[in-house]
Amino acid sequence: MREHRRALEAVGADTAPVRTGADLAAVDGIVIPGGESTTMSRLLGVFDLFEPLRDALAAGLPAYGSCAGMIMLASEVLDTRPDARCLGTIDMTVRRNAFGRQVDSFETDLEMAGIDGAPVRAVFIRAPWVERVGEGVEVLARVPDDAGESAGTVVAVQQGVTLATSFHPEVTGDLRIHRRFVEMVRRDM
Ligand code: GLN
Repeated sequence: MREHRRALEAVGADTAPVRTGADLAAVDGIVIPGGESTTMSRLLGVFDLFEPLRDALAAGLPAYGSCAGMIMLASEVLDTRPDARCLGTIDMTVRRNAFGRQVDSFETDLEMAGIDGAPVRAVFIRAPWVERVGEGVEVLARVPDDAGESAGTVVAVQQGVTLATSFHPEVTGDLRIHRRFVEMVRRDM
């Protein structure tokens, strides 16, 4: 969360942590960070935030999820706990810890639609990948062809005002994805 807030502030956004329904009602967009999606699912229930968040997203609150955040935004999650819930904001099937069968964590450069200039340095940490996208979902990035077994895997998507990446741009100092998200939020205000 700290790294995301730092990146968002660096591109001119005001940020605040969201812990309650009142916090949620006060924001124009939300970032769901990395972490542990099954724990997030449980804590959203404990803090009575699951339904309010799901409903705010369904009503069009712009969102960006990285890694575990991507998992939370999915409509279907594979290889998760049976009691874990997801928010269903993006019509996609995501496989949790998908790269873990080959290597837990790795970095690569990839081309991302809507991000001009040099390739994006993508840091994957026990990351999910996207196995299916629905019709309304735009694929923004795939693992490059030279990346072995996982080449071609979808790792960044957008549906409407919701953005998700398997990787963690907040740890690289490259602000382009956060800038793009903040522009999306501003256009939507
Ligand atoms: N493997 C984690 C999960 O299932 C995600 C890891 C991350 O966010 N870096 O939620």
